[in-house]
Amino acid sequence: MARYRKYSVYLKEKYGARVHRIPLQAGFYCPNRDGRLSRQGCIFCDVYGSGPLTFKPPPIREQLLEGMKRARRRYGAKFFIAYFQAFTNTYGPPEVLRERYWQALEFPEFVEISIGTRPDCVPEPVVDILEELARERPLWVELGLESSHYRSLRWMRRNHGVADFIDAVLRLKKRQGINVAAHVILGIPGEGKEEVVETARFLSALPVDGVKIHPLHVLKNTGLEKLYREGKLPLLSMEEFVSLAVDFLENLREDIVVMRISGERSLELFIAPEWALEKQKVLAEIDREMEKRDSFQGRKLKLGLKPEECMPLREPVKFST
Ligand code: SF4
Repeated sequence: MARYRKYSVYLKEKYGARVHRIPLQAGFYCPNRDGRLSRQGCIFCDVYGSGPLTFKPPPIREQLLEGMKRARRRYGAKFFIAYFQAFTNTYGPPEVLRERYWQALEFPEFVEISIGTRPDCVPEPVVDILEELARERPLWVELGLESSHYRSLRWMRRNHGVADFIDAVLRLKKRQGINVAAHVILGIPGEGKEEVVETARFLSALPVDGVKIHPLHVLKNTGLEKLYREGKLPLLSMEEFVSLAVDFLENLREDIVVMRISGERSLELFIAPEWALEKQKVLAEIDREMEKRDSFQGRKLKLGLKPEECMPLREPVKFST
């Protein structure tokens, strides 16, 4: 029995076969790196902006064709998702965004499109383009939130606030056909169960359709690497991560699709914690922990008091007339 809403199952039900994501480096950069907001970048971000490991990407069409070829050869894949992954994929003039996104529409095998970006980088002219794109193909906009706690965002050098995320979600969801997903990190120093549960509740209170969760992990040439080498970065054990992930899922609205749990990054860049590389083991442990608690997604979610709980326990003050 599936105890949480797995993306792979969601896709298989929708398309009748496995669907593979093809990560793209579409030539965008990031306001948190080019000096508009900062030159430092987020504390966890690698020099490739979490995308394919290249500084000289081939044209998008070639990336799409090569990605399809590889996935067909390895997995016999039939259907694909064009995942605009590296850096901030809505950071550019609308006409450039349109030209890049529309290249994925050339191939009917790309059944969905996913666009990763920052929550403060989706102004209305960009949302217009996204809505147009969503008319052509099912569309996900993946917003990096990481945490609903402002101090954590500051520690991660995100240079946006929680309000930017709320604003982006509400504006995107006003438009037809746009699915919104949030990225979340578990294991941020200073965040324990209470904070993680509050982030799940926060997402559940918003019209969010999907979530990607990963443990805080250290990659080469990042701010985290420096802290880690100096012995100033506590990292979660696998058991701690599994427990927090289940706490998170128990407080996540049951219809939200869980698009990923656990980190996935190339060995070339990866430093720690080692257990995070064992994706299948981590997923199996999460399933086991949910079974042990006899739990499921959304089991503990409670937002606000029920009407009967909203009755005062003492008489309201009577005012003399
Ligand atoms: S994680 Fe995203 S927002 Fe942060 S520096 Fe990297 S590309 Fe920019």
